[in-house]
Amino acid sequence: MPHILIIEDERDLAELLAFNLQQAGYATTLAHDGAAGLALALAAPPDLILLDLMLPGLLGTEVCRRLRQNRETAAVPVLMLTARGEETDRVAGFEVGADDYVVKPFSVREVVLRVKALLRRSGEGEPAGQILRIGTLTIDTERHRVTADGNDIELTALEFRLLLTLAERRGRVQSRDGLLQDVWGYHYSGDTRTVDTHITRLRTKLGSAGEFIHTVRGFGYKLDAP
Ligand code: CA
Repeated sequence: MPHILIIEDERDLAELLAFNLQQAGYATTLAHDGAAGLALALAAPPDLILLDLMLPGLLGTEVCRRLRQNRETAAVPVLMLTARGEETDRVAGFEVGADDYVVKPFSVREVVLRVKALLRRSGEGEPAGQILRIGTLTIDTERHRVTADGNDIELTALEFRLLLTLAERRGRVQSRDGLLQDVWGYHYSGDTRTVDTHITRLRTKLGSAGEFIHTVRGFGYKLDAP
């Protein structure tokens, strides 16, 4: 049974989320402030974390940053709960490594769907033992290991999926909507800026190999080496 850690200071909301996730077949643990949530996550890494942005003490962005710095929790999917739909909140969440976000007030059903999509993506079996080489970039699909110019690149589970999806379709342009569907698991039209923000972060992490990801204006992205 996948285990979900809910870090949310609004107790009613946290309990409502826990109840609905349990109904959907997940085990849940609750924390009501950032420090307690971080401690729980590091002590026993969950399969996914629901993380409120505005938390007393340690902010959600700081919790996320520290989760990403720790080897045990670096790849755990994080779904950020933001109070406003403001661009700054969304970008702040992505910059520290969140995989997805929902804006309050959200429907609990929506959250459960996003959780399912993120877990499906992170746990889905890639072709075993395959090593993809694109220029100076290597992707070990079995060990989830990526190197660029011989340097190890630390990616979140979602960033890995995004890179792998582009790499498996090398040289072919992928639309933003298509990537949302294939990488995030959305079966409806979502916010395609989510894709743009993650591409930007992926490029930065890949260093000079980031140039292999080409923007195809007005359509999407493709990965190819010169
Ligand atoms: Ca809050």
